[in-house]
Amino acid sequence: MTKQADKKLFIKTWGCQMNVYDSKRMEDILSPFGYKTVDTPEGADMVILNTCHIREKATDKVFSELGRIRPFKDKKAANDEQMLIAVAGCVAQAEGDFIMERAPYVDLVFGPQTYHELPEMIAKLTNAYGENRVVNTEFQGESKFDFLPEEHGSQGANAFLSIQEGCDKFCTFCVVPYTRGAEYSRTPKGIIDEAKRLVDNGAVEICLLGQNVNAFHGEDELGNTWGLGKLIQAVADIDGLERIRYTTSHPRDMDDELIETHAHPKLMPFLHLPVQSGSDRILKAMNRKHKADLYRDVIAKLRKARPDLAFSSDFIVAFPGETEDDFEETMQLVRDVNYASAYSFKYSARPGTPAANMQNLIRDDIASDRLARLQALINEQQLAFNKQSIGLTVPVLIERKGKKEGQLSGRSPYFQSVNIQGNERLINTIVDVTITDGFANSVTGDIALQETISKANA
Ligand code: SAM
Ligand code: SF4
Repeated sequence: MTKQADKKLFIKTWGCQMNVYDSKRMEDILSPFGYKTVDTPEGADMVILNTCHIREKATDKVFSELGRIRPFKDKKAANDEQMLIAVAGCVAQAEGDFIMERAPYVDLVFGPQTYHELPEMIAKLTNAYGENRVVNTEFQGESKFDFLPEEHGSQGANAFLSIQEGCDKFCTFCVVPYTRGAEYSRTPKGIIDEAKRLVDNGAVEICLLGQNVNAFHGEDELGNTWGLGKLIQAVADIDGLERIRYTTSHPRDMDDELIETHAHPKLMPFLHLPVQSGSDRILKAMNRKHKADLYRDVIAKLRKARPDLAFSSDFIVAFPGETEDDFEETMQLVRDVNYASAYSFKYSARPGTPAANMQNLIRDDIASDRLARLQALINEQQLAFNKQSIGLTVPVLIERKGKKEGQLSGRSPYFQSVNIQGNERLINTIVDVTITDGFANSVTGDIALQETISKANA
């Protein structure tokens, strides 16, 4: 594909941060070919729907979005212009042929491991090859990371960096091993070079990403294998980088080096560590390969390494066969850990996963009731955590304008959403904020410096 006059690229992204990262990299790939990102599909030359397949209705959502976009394509066609429509990501990987069959106006379907080939795929559709439609959902021997171009321009003050992909754990409910493929770790050098470029381009916080990020085992030039702890320590040495986070982790892969690394001041004191259930019986049926007490032990070790570490988790309620006693064990685990925040979902059968064939499905009214009880407990803990912060002064990375007039919104080290009043020039900087109030999903605060100045002037 050759560079042409400016073309408009619209990408809609669903799902996890890895999809957000992938969408940014698609922009980087297409930018040298004249594609500029726009925020509406109307009039775009290329529309990419970067999809997520983790829970139910994912495919329905894609088809409804495709239905919304189709008239824009028809409108362009009426003017003899082309709009390419592509479906990418995990729904594309899982349902590629079905999408092509049901939506004949879709030009291109590609999975998460093939987007580095976007220019070739577009060339096939638009010129000499004369192909009308392309499906590219192979798992290739090569890694896309060896082919991606360098990032284009600033990725913002808080940037994502994928270091690991795929998963070999095969939890019985999960589509990731099928849609993202086998576990793969990038090289430490490739990651550190990318982190340095992100910092040179304005990043002060980097979140290291992977479907199972603490399974990271990158090999260096000498053939030595690095774990995530060692990698974080090396990334922390980058001048100008202030904050590091990582997500998403598996309890079994929290090794001692990683646990100790939590004492590092640049690694933020917040960890998302999904457990899914507090019942050993259900954890076994989920093939999580650990018991609830191993999770409790890991949390205790982490708290020893970093006493103010705040935790978050994922929970699935009403997994097939879950009894009231199993559910009560989940509630007890939540009480024991005391979370700063957590996500909880009703189990949803994903086609092709082992759990989809399990019997003993839980009635929806029971599932809803358990979800409501779990969420009430989690909300209570979130509110208590946020209230406890009142009076603390913490560094907040200001990310965007808030919802209210004059408001700015950012994140505390503990990943709390923090709202303050302040000048827009503070966006993308870290400011000290004194927390003044706490709610279930956010806290409010005042800029500490302003307080000092006003006190001095009083
Ligand atoms: N790798 C992480 C781990 O080991 O827990 C999970 C990553 S998964 C992409 C994100 C979350 O989606 C999971 O932690 C789980 O709670 C939820 N999830 C995945 N499959 C699900 C399903 N079939 N039904 C309901 N929730 C699901
Ligand atoms: Fe899915 Fe996480 Fe289990 Fe891997 S470890 S199969 S990504 S839930």
